[in-house]
Amino acid sequence: MSLFGGPERFACSRAACTAQASWRIDWSNPRIHAAGRRKTWLACDEHRDYLEGFLVTRGFPLEVSPLHAEDPAS
Ligand SMILES: [Zn+2]
Repeated sequence: MSLFGGPERFACSRAACTAQASWRIDWSNPRIHAAGRRKTWLACDEHRDYLEGFLVTRGFPLEVSPLHAEDPAS
């Protein structure tokens, strides 16, 4: 995935948060996204619950995975 193609730090997706992300949240909105299309948010430890809860309360399917910067993307 091109999002993880570079060596730069990955910042949390929460507005105004500049912490380094430790998690990735892949989610989709079945009402506007074509089948199989997903968006990815990145989350720091502090905001993972917030971002996950935001999606859960809307009923969006999501998958949370640890973000390991040292792992190759492919
Ligand atoms: Zn954050």
